[in-house]
Formats: sequence, C-alpha cells, structure tokens
Amino acid sequence: MKIPGTLPCIICHGKLENPPEIKNGNQPNGGLEFIAAGHWPSTIIDIFDGRTLRINICDSCLLNAAENNLVAIQDERNENAPLEIWAGMEKTKKGGDE
Ligand SMILES: [Zn+2]
Repeated sequence: MKIPGTLPCIICHGKLENPPEIKNGNQPNGGLEFIAAGHWPSTIIDIFDGRTLRINICDSCLLNAAENNLVAIQDERNENAPLEIWAGMEKTKKGGDE
C-alpha cells in the first residue's frame, strides 16, 4: 500500500509534511526520518534484502525523549566511538539550515 505523502510521527501521530520543494519521498519538515534494514536479534524484522523500514519522529517528540535520556548518539567515523546519551538541540552548517 502506497502512502500519500509523508509518514506521521510514530510517537504523537502528529502530521508531518515534506518541505514544499520536496515532491517525492519522505523528508519530514520539523522531524527526522529513521531508517533500518532490520537488526539481529530482533524477533520481528531482520531482512537485509534492500528494503528498509522508515519511521518519522517529530522534533518535539525527539527533544522530549532526549530530555529523558532516551536518545543516544555515536560517531560512525570512529568504529570505537562510545554510544553516548544525546543532549538534544544540535545543528551544524551541514544540517541544511543555511
Ligand atoms: Zn511527535
């Protein structure tokens, strides 16, 4: 079943929309898209056949989760980097906020 537009937030079910210049795909304005190809030892999905799950979380719900120490961040450029609790509200120039 195809979805009409962008997925809502998986936590609050709030409506999310793509920016006007994005006509296709799932790029929520005011939120993030999380992508997973499965994960061993999940008991429900571990596919790795090219398909990926897509989940949106709005900025408000993500910040709320960060305030409750439920979000981690890790530097993927360093395979030995520790998984750390993310403090929230962090943007870089590369983040597309020009
Ligand atoms: Zn939300």
